[in-house]
Amino acid sequence: MSQPQLAPVLRRLLGPGRPEVTCEVCFDELDRYVELELAGADAEAAVPGMAAHLRGCPACGEEHESLTALLAGDGPA
Ligand SMILES: [Zn+2]
Repeated sequence: MSQPQLAPVLRRLLGPGRPEVTCEVCFDELDRYVELELAGADAEAAVPGMAAHLRGCPACGEEHESLTALLAGDGPA
């Protein structure tokens, strides 16, 4: 029962309409989202709409990039 890898499309069909990720939600979920990405999990399924927001929002997209670099353990560039 603990299968987090539900397809985004399925989540969308089951959910209450189109998921809307605001900058606030994005900021709250970014840590978890990046950790899932780095773990090779389906981060978009965990936070539906996140990828679209990151593509459409330069501020959050940048935050996502730097957090990914940070958590990936690349150290200071
Ligand atoms: Zn944003």
